[in-house]
Amino acid sequence: MRALISGAGVAGPALAIALGRHGIGATVVETAEKLRTSGFAVDFRGATHKSVLTELGVLDELKAVQTHGGAMRSVDEHGREIYRLPEEFAGGEVEVRRSDLSRILYERSLADAEYRFGDSIAGLTETADGVRVDFAKGESRTFDIVIGADGLHSNVRRLAFGPERDHVKHLGYYIAGWDLPNDRGYGTTAVQYNVPGRMASVGADFRDPGTAGTLFVFRGERQDVDWRDLGRQKAMITAAFAGMRWHVPYLLDTLRDVDEMYFDSISRVRAPRWTRGRVALLGDAAWGVTLGGMGVGTGVVGAYVLAGELALAKGDHRTAFAAYERRMRSYAGRWQRGASPGQFLAPSSAALLWLRNTMFATKTVQKMMVAGTTRLAADIALPAYPTEQVSG
Ligand SMILES: Cc1cc2nc3c(=O)[nH]c(=O)nc-3n(C[C@H](O)[C@H](O)[C@H](O)COP(=O)(O)OP(=O)(O)OC[C@H]3O[C@@H](n4cnc5c(N)ncnc54)[C@H](O)[C@@H]3O)c2cc1C
Repeated sequence: MRALISGAGVAGPALAIALGRHGIGATVVETAEKLRTSGFAVDFRGATHKSVLTELGVLDELKAVQTHGGAMRSVDEHGREIYRLPEEFAGGEVEVRRSDLSRILYERSLADAEYRFGDSIAGLTETADGVRVDFAKGESRTFDIVIGADGLHSNVRRLAFGPERDHVKHLGYYIAGWDLPNDRGYGTTAVQYNVPGRMASVGADFRDPGTAGTLFVFRGERQDVDWRDLGRQKAMITAAFAGMRWHVPYLLDTLRDVDEMYFDSISRVRAPRWTRGRVALLGDAAWGVTLGGMGVGTGVVGAYVLAGELALAKGDHRTAFAAYERRMRSYAGRWQRGASPGQFLAPSSAALLWLRNTMFATKTVQKMMVAGTTRLAADIALPAYPTEQVSG
């Protein structure tokens, strides 16, 4: 059996490892020329995430590159603290840089997977015994199954399930993050400053304090953005944050030298189906919410379940996809319904900002939120999948 996975982010390489455990080889096609390196720290929490990372053989390696960061201070224009969120609030139990996570999964998957960087799927045609895939760079090949792990703006979802506007709801915000030399000596506890509808934050990289990272969030109507057009993204950020005080003018200046940036709309995917024929969606392509907090955890759990169900069904994709969808709907679906990261990070009015600040300054609220997300993260019963190899 051979799978084609679109996307070498987090869920794609995790799936390549999980399939390899069951003897299923994978080809991973990634539109970027190399693994993407932007983004902030991401975290795993609860027993389920940790047991899946152990099964995939990456937990120890991830622990070795933990950031131990995650604490956050909200300040006013003069740097006076409004509230402070503890490490475990934003950092979960194992926090790593997204780029380290993607790299470690990728390296681990190389034993069972081949990668095609700088390419993409241009066409999918399902036949009786496979899916014929036309690659943008010209070649055509047939695979047994095709998995779209290509993120919120999934190409596979568009090709197999319909246009993005039918699947992605804009939640009224954009997010951007980029690295800069830490010339101003920012500390590892990220500091954030808000005005209604806008948030700017900056903190030193825990593992490389000579580098700092920003996280900017701002309100904005849906626009047709070319996600590869860096110049346009920089212009949108500069316009949105014009006139904002604190460290913002300095941070905006550093944009000039940036050549890799995480930029996206804050959106929620609503896909009525995650599988069709021999094609399935995984990770953000299926259930993403930008900065929803559990994207990486649900991505790796979904990869483990999808591969495990294929092994359990001895490679019968119909049975496996149905079981995968059933299990993941209640797990990932429950989490994503409640997530509203924009309103949480950059409340839209002075009254809502005051309300958020007041709530987050309360220790009981902080504890309740940590307990709630940890409970949701572990709220799935994972079967012990067979270890036999699947033959095609
Ligand atoms: C550069 C980047 C930085 C991120 N940083 C953060 C962060 O700091 N915090 C956070 O919570 N979440 C972040 N995310 C989202 C987070 O990675 C996901 O929520 C989660 O890990 C699920 O991962 P995924 O593999 O489904 O999607 P993603 O991690 O988004 O990976 C999707 C991959 O598919 C690739 N792709 C897109 N289109 C195509 C195509 N046509 N053909 C082939 N490949 C394609 C993308 O280049 C990307 O490598 C980031 C995503 C990206 C792409």
